[in-house]
Amino acid sequence: MRRKGLASMAVQAVERATSFGPAVALSCRECGERVPLGPVFACTSCFGPLEVAYELPLGDPEGLRRRIESGPANIWRYAPLLPVPADVASRPNLRPGFTQLVRADNLARELGVTGELHVKDDSGNPTHSFKDRVVAVAVEAARAFGFTTLSCSSTGNLAGAVGAAAARAGLRSCVFIPHDLEAGKVVMAAVYGGDLVGIEGTYDDVNRFCSELIGDPLGEGWGFVNVNLRPYYGEGSKTLAYEICEQLGWRLPDQLVVPIASGSQLTKIDKGLRELIALGLVEDRPYRIFGAQAEGCSPVSRAFKDGQDVVRPVKPDTIAKSLAIGNPADGPYVLDIARRTGGAVEDVTDPEIVDAIRLLARTEGIFAETAGGVTVGVTRKLLEAGVLDPSLTTVVLNTGDGLKTLDAVAAGPSVTIRPSLGAFREAGLG
Ligand SMILES: *Cc1c(COP(=O)(O)O)cnc(C)c1O
Ligand SMILES: [Zn+2]
Repeated sequence: MRRKGLASMAVQAVERATSFGPAVALSCRECGERVPLGPVFACTSCFGPLEVAYELPLGDPEGLRRRIESGPANIWRYAPLLPVPADVASRPNLRPGFTQLVRADNLARELGVTGELHVKDDSGNPTHSFKDRVVAVAVEAARAFGFTTLSCSSTGNLAGAVGAAAARAGLRSCVFIPHDLEAGKVVMAAVYGGDLVGIEGTYDDVNRFCSELIGDPLGEGWGFVNVNLRPYYGEGSKTLAYEICEQLGWRLPDQLVVPIASGSQLTKIDKGLRELIALGLVEDRPYRIFGAQAEGCSPVSRAFKDGQDVVRPVKPDTIAKSLAIGNPADGPYVLDIARRTGGAVEDVTDPEIVDAIRLLARTEGIFAETAGGVTVGVTRKLLEAGVLDPSLTTVVLNTGDGLKTLDAVAAGPSVTIRPSLGAFREAGLG
């Protein structure tokens, strides 16, 4: 009996080791303590957040670059750098990523940028936001841990991404959102057939509720992608950094403008860039990371401007609902990164967000959701303030699709006429 128990434990350990590719442990971002890979997110010594630690394939950058370039045109080309099994590309999943990096010369001209300006357009993902990246990695962890229900607390985009990914993977889903989200996001969260629960409260209330559910027998067997699977989930954002550099011809951009909700994406983009440098895939040069928030939910921007290390929570009130997290878990790390890289954190008002959505649509044919209005608006503001250098290579992230936040932009026909040439002539548009 005892021997059999040991043998099956060994098999489990091997399975777990191969399930997570190059990942070897979770490590505490505060005290560095290491724990085995598991569905845990907080350090037992100091309660700091855990992140995935790797044995990365160092030593053969040319070989690694060739391997990546011959991989699939989605995030799984970077499987050697992610906590996923080597055969992940052939499993049932949404295959997000490798979205377009758009050279934005028209926008550059309007903004007075003389260097290269690019928009990384993540509206091209399967559920039309960057969230498909993080969910795809979390789903693999959910499978490895034997979870049968996939869940999350969401500001909207994540709920849709989880619903769709669970459907493809053959898992049940039950997701939680604030009750007052945009119609486009509610429909997308519901259409994939999982359970959708509206909570009377803000996102921060939803998040607190989910933390309670995890500790309760009601939540047994549940993988919350952004709570107990958060260390794995976060790693999906590294692929934005990998793609941007590969699409620039294996080159670091000089400046990146990244939206902040919880701050996870921004911190993992920085992690991804540092990995590429360590792996020898890009030349080690300085880069600067700029965070973007909406004024109506700008706790990180506030702390940055006040020279604080702590982020004081706020009650969100903005049209940029996908970024409306009043108590951002990764806020202090975002401050560290902005300061270490010589970047900044800035915010824009709701009218500035709408103007920026229109500007990007008019100049580049990209219809961004409000989060894209935030990054483009902040880019404009930082250029005008002389904080962003217009002569350098800058990448601005658009993380979601304008079709999900239609109410933000009151656009309609230039004129409505009878179907006759006479009426068209009168309208003066010929
Ligand atoms: C979730 C989200 C982000 C970033 O979220 P973080 O919590 O900061 O990682 C950015 N843009 C959109 C559209 C999102 O849905
Ligand atoms: Zn710790």
